[in-house]
Amino acid sequence: MGRPAYVDSYYAASALAAPGRRPLEGSVDCDVCVVGGGIAGCSAALHLAERGLSVVLLEEYRVGWGASGRSGGQALFGVAAGQAKLTRLIGADGARAVWEVSVEALALLRSLIERFRIDCDWVNGYLLTAVKPRHERELQAEIAELRETCGYESVRYVPRAELATLLATERYLGALYDGNSGHLHPLNYTLGLAAAAESCGVRIFEGSRATSFSPAASARVRIATAAGEVHARHLVLCGNVYLGALAPALAAKIMGVATYIVATEPLGAERARALITNNAATCDMNWVLDYFRRSADHRLLFGGRVNYSGLRSFDAPAATRARMLRVFPQLEDVRIDYAWGGEVDITLNRAPHFGRLAPNVYFLQGFSGHGIALTGIAGKLVAESIAGTASRFDVFARIPHGSFPGGAALRRPALVLAMLYYRLKDLL
Ligand SMILES: Cc1cc2nc3c(=O)[nH]c(=O)nc-3n(C[C@H](O)[C@H](O)[C@H](O)COP(=O)(O)OP(=O)(O)OC[C@H]3O[C@@H](n4cnc5c(N)ncnc54)[C@H](O)[C@@H]3O)c2cc1C
Repeated sequence: MGRPAYVDSYYAASALAAPGRRPLEGSVDCDVCVVGGGIAGCSAALHLAERGLSVVLLEEYRVGWGASGRSGGQALFGVAAGQAKLTRLIGADGARAVWEVSVEALALLRSLIERFRIDCDWVNGYLLTAVKPRHERELQAEIAELRETCGYESVRYVPRAELATLLATERYLGALYDGNSGHLHPLNYTLGLAAAAESCGVRIFEGSRATSFSPAASARVRIATAAGEVHARHLVLCGNVYLGALAPALAAKIMGVATYIVATEPLGAERARALITNNAATCDMNWVLDYFRRSADHRLLFGGRVNYSGLRSFDAPAATRARMLRVFPQLEDVRIDYAWGGEVDITLNRAPHFGRLAPNVYFLQGFSGHGIALTGIAGKLVAESIAGTASRFDVFARIPHGSFPGGAALRRPALVLAMLYYRLKDLL
């Protein structure tokens, strides 16, 4: 059997060379076993190894196979739930601590890229755009709140006339600009983190699904794969929506929502630059949102159109291209070279879901479409906690989370109804 393939995406086609890693065979011992080779797992492994712990990482397919290697690549401030909701959930001090971690997440991402010389096309700049007058008012209130309450000075309002010089579309009424957020090639970033982790001694096994784990009375955990087993003092689960039966209690708290991206053919530097003159990552404020950015080789990468129903019958590439043309009708003549999808792990309240299943079994999930920056710092917080400083991790672990109603069978129909409601709201 060959190596499992990546989904057929622009990222896979432009991935940097990475070593093939063999599956786990036989029995290995370590301090910490990490399950999942996305950004969360690779960052946790790296930061644990930097603290001198011996680490084994198990990845079912290949490093970056999941959301981390498919995403829009937009690294954003804050968390998807927003500060107001966090304040209701865990109080002002907790919400403030989460905010500070989210800002540190962007600094950490930049420092990891620099420290380990990760070649992943990092670009500063993010535009959050208003599609309707209600959005403009919300953005202005958010900017005032971020600047005054959080002291976050890198955001400002971009009025319509100025926005027209940045984006070659008439669709938006204004935008929030953040010079601290940005975008990158998410698969190459993930591969770079894995290489960094290995350079610090982490042992990575690909093609190795963790099939079960048993927290033993002796406080050592045994993690089984098809052909081997890991014995560890701690286990960190970073398997996103793919964990499934390995940890049903976690699966109940998140819902996999499909989202799709298309990559145009290379447009040439001049044509690509004209679309987004400041090269910012861009995202609109609709519930069913559009997000897009330029790639380093001058394509437009355009994502959107979530599919909450889980039905594969609709033509995702055609639907996503149609959404792209609604924003940039001037791309009618342009070929689509790649189209792919992935699942976003959303929680009911859109806040990240971190915690412990047992004192030595940690998990990180529920990034709710906001994981590119936050996954990196989440891995660092787990490492801090395992090394004995749990305070920052525990702020997140305090956020309450409900289960999706109805279990696996009814979860999706309930969400389809909710989605119809929110799509109607987008029209108002
Ligand atoms: C199409 C798309 C666009 C997105 N756009 C953005 C964006 O622009 N900005 C943003 O911030 N976020 C975005 N996101 C979300 C972001 O990509 C995720 O939040 C983030 O990558 C999650 O990282 P992770 O490490 O938790 O999970 P993943 O990257 O999914 O990694 C989990 C890994 O665990 C492995 N695994 C699971 N179970 C097991 C097991 N039992 N044994 C071994 N291995 C296992 C899987 O194979 C997988 O490789 C997007 C997501 C998608 C799908």
